[in-house]
Amino acid sequence: MSAVSPLPDRRFPIRHDWTRAEVEAVFDLPFTELLHRAGCAHREHFDPTEVQVSTLLSVKTGGCPEDCAYCPQSAHHGTSLAASKLMDVDAVVEQARQAKADGASRFCMGAAWRSPKPRDMPKVVAMVRAVKALGLETCVTLGMLDAGQARELKDAGLDYYNHNLDTDPEYYGQIIHTRTVQDRFDTLTHVRDAGMKTCCGGIVGMGETRRQRASLLVTLANLPRHPESVPINQLVPVAGTPLANAPALDPFEFVRTVAVARILMPASMVRLSAGRAAMSDEMQALCFAAGANSIFHGEKLLTTGNPDPGYDSALFQRLGLRPMSVENVKSSLSDIPGLTIVRENSGGGCGGGGSCGCSEGGGTGPTLAETTRKRELAQLSREPEDGCGCGCGCEHG
Ligand code: SF4
Repeated sequence: MSAVSPLPDRRFPIRHDWTRAEVEAVFDLPFTELLHRAGCAHREHFDPTEVQVSTLLSVKTGGCPEDCAYCPQSAHHGTSLAASKLMDVDAVVEQARQAKADGASRFCMGAAWRSPKPRDMPKVVAMVRAVKALGLETCVTLGMLDAGQARELKDAGLDYYNHNLDTDPEYYGQIIHTRTVQDRFDTLTHVRDAGMKTCCGGIVGMGETRRQRASLLVTLANLPRHPESVPINQLVPVAGTPLANAPALDPFEFVRTVAVARILMPASMVRLSAGRAAMSDEMQALCFAAGANSIFHGEKLLTTGNPDPGYDSALFQRLGLRPMSVENVKSSLSDIPGLTIVRENSGGGCGGGGSCGCSEGGGTGPTLAETTRKRELAQLSREPEDGCGCGCGCEHG
């Protein structure tokens, strides 16, 4: 077992006191400078060559009583989506097994509810237990929870609960009328109090301004604990929803939003979520350079399309990226001042797993990613007062 000690001087500490003016100034940085700073924040907490991979399954689709303006599952909108019943546990487990075989480390299950009814909970709990037993991280999104439901899910072994803020609290009333921002804060409080991690982000491209995008990220970063996962979604305009004709967001503005999220919440997984199917390879690469380190893998999100799994593998290969292992996912720390990475199996070998052809053995040593990470952390430790902390020799504080 080896350990990398906390860095003496972190350039991108965990903060909960961001102001909107400060964050607007970060948004306004020249694009190259913004990406550089986001890349430094990313390296301070993660191996930038690793991307956490989640798979999302809609376990109960459509007919939702909420009126979220972007969502084809809302019963308020005239979409052609057919409503379905809650899936059987066996069918969900089969999909989770396949997701794991395809490289996912986390399996997310979504149900289009305002909140789960008491009669639904036993089945959801059974799903969580069964998926967890496969060695996957588990996440569900079921709408609003009360404290008792949150505890029930925690007891079942749930790792993450997804509940997005969606947008700037001041713009929220333009998007959703059937539940309040405070309802969302309350659910997030129940999830945190039960001891689970939160997956909480938003959607951009819904007609909001840059100031409102900054405000969304300030609100997320100033929560009592940073969400451990921060999905940044690009609106997927769906015919029949009120936002079907929303004007497209400038792609660079989306990348900026990812970069600012990375800087504000440096130890969180920043997920490139909905909208990826419409992004070019180059735009996705910019998002990874801006600090995105999580994606949904699989042909479909809850109801909208996602890149083909083969496409993702090819893109990872072209960019030199690789899926984050479940172990590395579990060792990523959030909201802890200072970082200690503890690794099992560090007993020698080059980390090439025997595939690189060297004479150092392999398979039991640190992975290539760990070796890279240690080198970077060592450099950061040596030169804390010079430059931006990424070892590039620049002068940014
Ligand atoms: S986003 Fe969720 S809560 Fe809102 S309408 Fe869609 S399924 Fe319902």
